[in-house]
Amino acid sequence: MVNQLKNEIKDKPITDQLKILAEKFKNRIAFSTSFGLGDQVITDIIFSNNIPVKVFTLDTGRLFEDTYKVWDKTLKKYKKKIIPFFPNKEDVEKMVFEKGINSFYESPENRNECCRIRKVEPLNRALKDIDLWITGIRAEQSVTRTELNFFEENKTYNLIKFNPVLKWSLDDIIKHIKTNEVPYNDLYNKGFISVGCAPCTRAVKLGEEIRAGRWWWESKEKKECGIHVSQNENLKFEIKNYDNS
Ligand code: SF4
Repeated sequence: MVNQLKNEIKDKPITDQLKILAEKFKNRIAFSTSFGLGDQVITDIIFSNNIPVKVFTLDTGRLFEDTYKVWDKTLKKYKKKIIPFFPNKEDVEKMVFEKGINSFYESPENRNECCRIRKVEPLNRALKDIDLWITGIRAEQSVTRTELNFFEENKTYNLIKFNPVLKWSLDDIIKHIKTNEVPYNDLYNKGFISVGCAPCTRAVKLGEEIRAGRWWWESKEKKECGIHVSQNENLKFEIKNYDNS
């Protein structure tokens, strides 16, 4: 299946790729956005071209205010729907009642529990009945970049994952954002490499590992690591000259 899909979209521009896949998978195709830079490019292409793909996001309840701002700007610019998935309220209430509001700082087990409740379970619901899952993952930013492909069979969710901007450089992404006046998260102008939950994400300094921006209080052995932020890469995040207001 994956090889067949690869052949069908080979050498096509991203807009055509998404149109072909939307036609093929009809209402069983979905794009998950967390309003990152790559995500915003895909959102722009889907919405501007009226491509029939469900766009959804996971609201963990712990997102940055800047993320809600870019979410709001995106809705206003495109006048399209983004489906929100929230955590199961009983699970959150139980966890917070028993362990407090920031239990994830206390142990990797607690952190995993919080991620499971706030992210994994809602994602399971979002991907129910979906056969093709589109993501904004880019190889440049991924810790496991060598294992990534445009199409991947995902056994966990029993579907195929499609990563259309996998090989896009940050320059490509920024160029698309500027040219098309796509709203983006202001945190990228403040040293953030990727943006997740507010209590678990911070800006990364030159020379630090990309993973230093996530769950930094945990020991290295407990986290994946390996990619370092080069000076060049960090400076490329300076996109302030584009008016994002
Ligand atoms: S990233 Fe942090 S706040 Fe968000 S779900 Fe995971 S542990 Fe919880």
